[in-house]
Formats: sequence, C-alpha cells, structure tokens
Amino acid sequence: MRLRLTALVVLALGTVTVITSAQGPVLSAPARAAADRISAPQLAWDVAHLASDDLKGRNTPSPGFDAAADYLIARLQKAGLTPAGDQGGFRQHYDLDDTRLDTTRAGLTIGARRFAVGHDVAMRTLGLPKSGTVPVVYVGHGWTVPARGIDSFAGVDVSGALVLAHGPRVTPTGVGISQVGRVTVGARSVIDEAARRGAIGVLFITQASELLRWDDLRSGGQVRREMVPNVPSAYATPEIPSLLLSPDATRALLEGEMLDGYAALQAPEGGPYAASFRLKKSVTLDLPLAQSTRLRPFNVVARLDGTDPTLRAEVVTVAAHLDGAVGTREVADDAIYNAADDNASGSAGLLAIAEQMATARPKRSIVFVWDSGEEQGLWGIRWFVHAPPVPRSAIVAHVNVDMIGSSRPDTAEPAEGVKGVTRRGEVYMLGPTVLSRQADALITRVNAEYQGVQLNRAFDRTDSEFFYPRTDAGPFLERGILTIGFNTGTHERYHLPSDEARALDPVQMQQVARLMFSVVWAVADAPQRIGIDQPMPASVPRHP
Ligand SMILES: [Zn+2]
Repeated sequence: MRLRLTALVVLALGTVTVITSAQGPVLSAPARAAADRISAPQLAWDVAHLASDDLKGRNTPSPGFDAAADYLIARLQKAGLTPAGDQGGFRQHYDLDDTRLDTTRAGLTIGARRFAVGHDVAMRTLGLPKSGTVPVVYVGHGWTVPARGIDSFAGVDVSGALVLAHGPRVTPTGVGISQVGRVTVGARSVIDEAARRGAIGVLFITQASELLRWDDLRSGGQVRREMVPNVPSAYATPEIPSLLLSPDATRALLEGEMLDGYAALQAPEGGPYAASFRLKKSVTLDLPLAQSTRLRPFNVVARLDGTDPTLRAEVVTVAAHLDGAVGTREVADDAIYNAADDNASGSAGLLAIAEQMATARPKRSIVFVWDSGEEQGLWGIRWFVHAPPVPRSAIVAHVNVDMIGSSRPDTAEPAEGVKGVTRRGEVYMLGPTVLSRQADALITRVNAEYQGVQLNRAFDRTDSEFFYPRTDAGPFLERGILTIGFNTGTHERYHLPSDEARALDPVQMQQVARLMFSVVWAVADAPQRIGIDQPMPASVPRHP
C-alpha cells in the first residue's frame, strides 16, 4: 500500500513538471532584458577596481576592504536597493576578538622543569586560553569512530584535564577516516571530543614528520581571531587550545608514568598505542594573553523587495565574499595578493546582478550579501546566517558566487596550471544535484532557455570538497537551507599575488553572471517554493 502511494505521488509530481514546462518561458521579457544588460566591459571595469593594488586584496578588516565596500554601496544606492544592514545602513557588523598570547610568559611546567612556548612547546591553536595546574590523561591516537567501536576516551575522565595524544596528524592504522575540509565523516577528532567532554586543552606527542617542520611550527598558533559570540559551525575555531610537545617535553611528562616517554615517541605512527590512562602527575599550563583587541568587521547587505504581496515574505539570498586571501609572502617580486578571481569576480558579478535585478523584480524578495572574513573562517556569512535581516525560515534558497572569472582554451590537453578551470561557456555547478531535483530541473530549464552554458556537475557530489565545506555555502547547509553555487574552477594563480584582474576572461564572467541572474530569477519567481527534496548528506554537520 505504502509503495503504491509513493509511486502515485511521484507520478503526480511528474505531471506537475510537464504542466509547468508548458507554461512558457521562465524569464519574463523585462527580466531577460535586464539580464542582457549585464556586460563584459562593466564587469571588467568593476573587477579591475576591486582587484587594484590600491585595495591591497581587501583583507578583513582593512582600509582596502572598507574602500571596496564604499564602492559597492554607492552603486547599490544609485540602483535603488534597500539597505539591509544595521540601523538602516548597508553594513552589517559583527564583533571579532583578536587575541594574542604573551609568549614571554606562556609555557608548560612539568615538575621542576619549565617548557616555554616557542621553544620546547608550540601552540597549534590558541583556543580560549586557560591556565592552571591540572591532571593529564593519555588517550593514544585520540580518535572516536563509533561505527568501528573505537573510543579513545572510554574508561577515562578528562573533565578539567589536559588530554595527551599522538599527533596532530595521525589516524588509527587500518581505519579510513574520510575527511572533507575540516569535517571528519563518522569520526570525531581528539580536539573535538576533548572539548565535548570538558577537557581544558590537548597536548600532542608530536609525530616525526611534524617535528621536521618545528622551525615553522614553533612560532605559529599564537593569535586567535574569532567572532564574539561564536556562531556554531564546523568552521569555528576550536574553543580549547592545543599544543605540540618537543621530544624532551614528552619524556619529562611521561617520566615515572605507566607509559615511558621513549616508548611513546617510538610507537609506530597510527598505533597500536598503549591503553588510555590518567597520569600520576599534574602539570601547570600558563597561557596568559598579551592583549585582546575587539574588531568590528562587516558585511554589505542589500534587499530587493518582491512584487507578489504574499510571496515577497519569502527570500532568496545571494552572496559573494568581498574579502581576499591576503598572504605575507612575496612571490616573484609581488607582495600584493589582489584576489581578482577569488573573489573580485564574484563580487562584481553579484553587483551586476543586483543592479539589473532592481529594474525587473521577481515575485519573491532577494537579499544580496558581500561578506567578509570568508578566507579566514567564513566569519561574515556565519554571522549573516546567525542574524539574518529576515527570518531564517523565510530563506528559500541560497545562491553562492565564488570565482567566476576564469576560462581555459578549448584544447584536448589543457596546460597544467589551468586543468581545474572550465572552458569558456562552461561552469561548475554545486549543490542542486545533491539536494534538490526541483532546483536542478529549474536551473536546467532556464539555462536551456537563456544562456545555454554547459553545466559541469563533476563536483556536485557529497564527497567533493567543493560541495561541502570550503565555501560560504557551508553555514547555510548546516542549517538545512538549499544552496546553489557556480564557479569556473581553481588554477595556478589561486591564493597567490598573481591572482590579478588581467588574467581573467570578461566574456566568461558575463555569461556566468547572466546565467546566475536567470537562476536567481527562476527560484525567486517560481510559482511554488522550491527547496531541499533529497536526503541531507551525512557528511554535512547540522547546527539548527
Ligand atoms: Zn573564494
């Protein structure tokens, strides 16, 4: 009976699709005319400005980012969009603490010996620093993999203690832990599990391959930049600190304990390791702060009200991160990380879409977001999802615009540096195939009707790092919101000073921006609300 009912529903849905497609074009004539006004020269002009040396890559926060925001806001005002930030303005601020360790006093005291941070002990992540004399609990590799019956924390109480584990990059031998970005599917890392069980921090018995990099590692991890209040996400910085121990510190810590320091250091990587136990000695951890500075970065947010008196309460969000990944290393005598493709291209594309959408409004409302801090931890979009200017339940779908400016020559054997880039007239599509048959069908239809871009679904799979995480789509997915993304792929200039405007393809940008205009329109103007109609992949962490 149940099966038959399902078949009937499917049949009914199929009929609806047929009727809809017989209803004529998705884009109204004014909508199509508006999309046609998105032009390669204007996109090129805007990208050249946003990615100019003057703006220095638009780091978060920085004068260059502020200047880029001013540029956008002037244009949004001119186009008649409604401010949707704080207090009637276009800027949506959030608090961010920049916390720095006092390295002159930070360290670990084991018995009579002191191990200073930056010398015998290295910070891996600062976390919310804690100080005090506390017990230590050894947990081997520290992983928790419920499906395999692996629980490193079984039988020990780590509450208020420091957890001692081998690492930071070991996994149990013979157990494949599939990791997509910062998400470990079906497994919890030692830091996540230690924090969950109330430990105050993690000490790593540093593996040999990491000790080789000690000169780089010892000065790392001494700054923490995170939102206040923190917004839960797989992208959030761990709340507890973790530290790497030198071999000398490991031996001092394990002297006179059940597990000898020499044996611990010589254990094969991945195990088998000794059983978990609580050490007899306590240690004193000092992580005093030199300073904490409150920063106020912001997103640029604009709203376009829909035309339908009922449907205008529903919203499609469209975002492009305005910030760039600004490095400190000079490459080929160039110290400015212009971040042209990533993501002046998406920012300019989104500006064009917003300006033209304002001339032909769909039934539902649209919120346009140029977010900040994407490259440093998705700060801006996490904050937007936490505190949207509309009820979160009103968000029908989220469209993500990240890197839309590249193309490669249409040759059989593409050059090494552009293998990941699409051909002109081709774009990677992320999200709808996995999450929504309705959205996929709608996009296929409007694309066939208008731009006829080749939709490449190679990364539209749950095991692709481009599906989840790595982009602003993550925080929306974590809250069960349909996400649709487009990009033209990664290349040799990615996150380097050579990501400059002159390397981009304005014709490609025009085509992708017009496609995205048509997709946003299709979703915002659809008679029925579309949404997720497929099971949410298990690899997506949920933060309701
Ligand atoms: Zn990006």
